[in-house]
Amino acid sequence: MALEAYRRDMEGCSRCSSCKWVPMSQMKSHRFSQVCPSISRYHFHSFAGSGKLMLGLSLLDNRIEMNDSVADVAYKCTLCGACDANCKVYRDDIDIAEVIEEIRATCVENGQFFAEHQMMIDDLKRENNVFGEPKNARGDWAEGLGLKDANAQKVDVLFHAGCRFSYDEDLLGVIRGAATLIRDAGVDLGVAGKAESCCGGRAFGLGFRGDGKNFAEDMAVRVKSSGAKVLLTPCADCYGAFKYAYRRMGVDLGVQVMHISEYLKALAANGKINFKNRVDRKITYHDPCHLGRRSEPYAGPWEGNKLLRPASRKRDGRKGVYDAPRDLLRSIPGIRLVEMERIREYSWCCGAGGGVWEADQELSDFAARERIEEALTTGADALATSCPWCERNLRDAAESMGAGIEVLDVTELVARSIKGEVIS
Ligand code: SF4
Ligand code: SF4
Repeated sequence: MALEAYRRDMEGCSRCSSCKWVPMSQMKSHRFSQVCPSISRYHFHSFAGSGKLMLGLSLLDNRIEMNDSVADVAYKCTLCGACDANCKVYRDDIDIAEVIEEIRATCVENGQFFAEHQMMIDDLKRENNVFGEPKNARGDWAEGLGLKDANAQKVDVLFHAGCRFSYDEDLLGVIRGAATLIRDAGVDLGVAGKAESCCGGRAFGLGFRGDGKNFAEDMAVRVKSSGAKVLLTPCADCYGAFKYAYRRMGVDLGVQVMHISEYLKALAANGKINFKNRVDRKITYHDPCHLGRRSEPYAGPWEGNKLLRPASRKRDGRKGVYDAPRDLLRSIPGIRLVEMERIREYSWCCGAGGGVWEADQELSDFAARERIEEALTTGADALATSCPWCERNLRDAAESMGAGIEVLDVTELVARSIKGEVIS
C-alpha cells in the first residue's frame, strides 16, 4: 500500500483533535487525559496523529518537500497507535497508524531518516539483531535449561525470545524463568538458539520494508522447519509484528501465534500450572502497545468507502490482548491489582517503540516518566508489564526518578507464585 491509497483517510480528518486525548467517556482526570506522547512533548499539531495526516496529504499534493523536518515529525513518534484507537471512537474510516507507516516508507524511499535508524538497520543486517550484538551469542540466555534445539528436532512449541530478551543481561532472569515455567509444565518446547533472528518488526515500523520482509520470510522458514504448531513469544514487540506487521508484509507464518501471557493462562486453565504461593503485592499493570492495540491482525486493504467496513475488518484497538495478563495477576493469591487511569486501548505508551528509544532518548524518557507518575498515583508498590522493551524503559525511568516502584514482568510474579522463588 502506498501513501496514495490513504488519500481518503487523510482528506477525511475533521481536525477535532480527539486523537490527542483519552475519550471523554474514559477520562478520569485532567492530569492523565492526554494519550499521544509526541504531541504532549512537542506541542505542535504536526506531531499529533491528525498533524501526520496533514503531513501525508501535503506530501502527496506536493505542497511540501521531503526534507529533514518531515522526517523529524514522522520519527518523533512511538508508533504506539493511541491516536488511531482514539480517533476510531468517533470515526470508522481513518487508519492513522497505517498512514504514519506509509509516510515512513516514503521517507526511507527518499533517504530521509535518522542516522541512528540506519545504524540499527546495519546492525540488523550484520548480526541479525537490533543491538549489533554477536549473533553467535543469541541463544546464550537458554544455557543449561535443557530446552530442545528446534534446528535439529521437531517441537510442538517454538519459543522466540526476541532481540531484547536475548541480549539484555538485566532481564536474563525474566526470560529464563519464563521458559522454565513452560518447560516444567511438560510442554514440548524448543528454541532456535543462535539461529534465531530479529522478527523484523522494527525495520517494518521504521519504513525499511524490504529489510523487514527479509526477516519475516526468514522467520517463516524457521517456524516451518521446526514443525511447531505454536509460535510462542514473551516479547510484545515480536507478538505485534507476527500478528500485524507480517500480514501487512504479506508473510504467513502458518501457525498459531501466542504471547506468553495467553499461553500461561491456558496452562493454568488446564491445571498444568498451579499458583501455590502467596505474593503479597499491590500491583498496577501497564499495557504494552504491541500486545494491545497494535497487535490486532491486519485483514488486508479495504477498497472504497471505509465506513462500509464490517467491524471484523476494522482495527480499532479493542481486539488486542488485555485480559490474559490481568487474569494471570488476579489468579495469584495475595496480589491486589489496581488500575491506572489510561488502560487497555487508551493506554499511555512506555516510550520505547517506533524507533524512538534508539533515536530520541528525550521523548522516550519523557513518555516513560509520565507513565511512572501515573503508576505512582495508584499506590501500587510494583508496576507489572508484558514486554521487555516496556520493562527496560519503565525500569530505567523509575530508577532515575527515585520513584520507589519496582518494575516487573508478569511472568516473574507467576514464577514467584508457582515456584516460590525468583528464578535466575
Ligand atoms: S485524526 Fe481523527 S481524531 Fe484526529 S483530528 Fe482527525 S478526525 Fe479527529
Ligand atoms: S502513534 Fe502514538 S506517538 Fe505517534 S502520533 Fe499517534 S499517538 Fe502520537
